[in-house]
Amino acid sequence: MYTGLTEVADDLFRVDTPLGERVSSLYVIRGTETSALFDTGVDGAIPDHLRPALDRIGVSREAVRHVVISHCDVDHFGGVADARDAFPNARIAAHAEDRPVIEDYATFERERGRSFLDVWGLDEDPAVLDWCRSATREGPLDRDYVDGERIDLGDKEIVVWHVPGHSRGHLDLEAPWAKALVVSDAVLGSSVNLADGSPAFPPTYRHVVEYLASAERIASYAPDLLLTAHYPTMDARAGIAFLDETREFVDRLEAALDKLFGDATHALTLAEAVHLLNAIVGEWPKEGTEGALAFPVVGHLERWVDQGRLARHDRGTEPAAWSLT
Ligand SMILES: [Zn+2]
Repeated sequence: MYTGLTEVADDLFRVDTPLGERVSSLYVIRGTETSALFDTGVDGAIPDHLRPALDRIGVSREAVRHVVISHCDVDHFGGVADARDAFPNARIAAHAEDRPVIEDYATFERERGRSFLDVWGLDEDPAVLDWCRSATREGPLDRDYVDGERIDLGDKEIVVWHVPGHSRGHLDLEAPWAKALVVSDAVLGSSVNLADGSPAFPPTYRHVVEYLASAERIASYAPDLLLTAHYPTMDARAGIAFLDETREFVDRLEAALDKLFGDATHALTLAEAVHLLNAIVGEWPKEGTEGALAFPVVGHLERWVDQGRLARHDRGTEPAAWSLT
């Protein structure tokens, strides 16, 4: 079960914030000189849920000097303006490749929320976009993080890793004293889950080669603790199983796409492909989840386009259709 505040290792705290029927976990790393926050949650999560947790663990607003944003999804950066209000000394930062999307909502909507519209002819559900807008109070960041950067907290250091795949600029945090990796959404198993552990929607990785490389990098570190945004805390064994599940899903979707396009008697639109696949590749509810499945499906199909395996058929005002070459 999830609880609000857990010290998962010495000076490493997990703070679970509500996200509808889901949970978005933020992490606080407490040092003797400064402390760090990993992810802001949605707008309102910091004042409503994080600040009371900080009071309980004795971390002052002034001590939070580092806010690391894992990536450009609103359940991770929607509270940027809250972070600015709450932590007067904080440097708020993300990876350069996600930063423009985090800083400007119009950019988020164009390049993340509705990013399949132009090339793939599939738009996001307006209700999802409305929710994203309502969950976000964006603002400027202070700087970029690069892979391998160390953050000094006084008695300890944490290390920033660049682990792309779910987004181009996804960041993890390493807490070496606990051999812990806080990976947010860098790896997503075979579904993203509700708070009760049941599947909510497909794993929304976007860049297949990078995603698999990041899973490999995380696995080769062999963390004693694997900490995510939307799953229970995992020990070494559970982490290995989750990373296997992550890679197995990629193989399963690739095989299902192979069969779908191999058997197709006409060129398929992205909407058709996602609709047909959503019924067979996972255990999540079928209603309202096709937009999420578009993320990994486009990731796989883009790779086929790069390999010259997939051809585009323009059809005037209709969405483009795709077939094997
Ligand atoms: Zn997330």
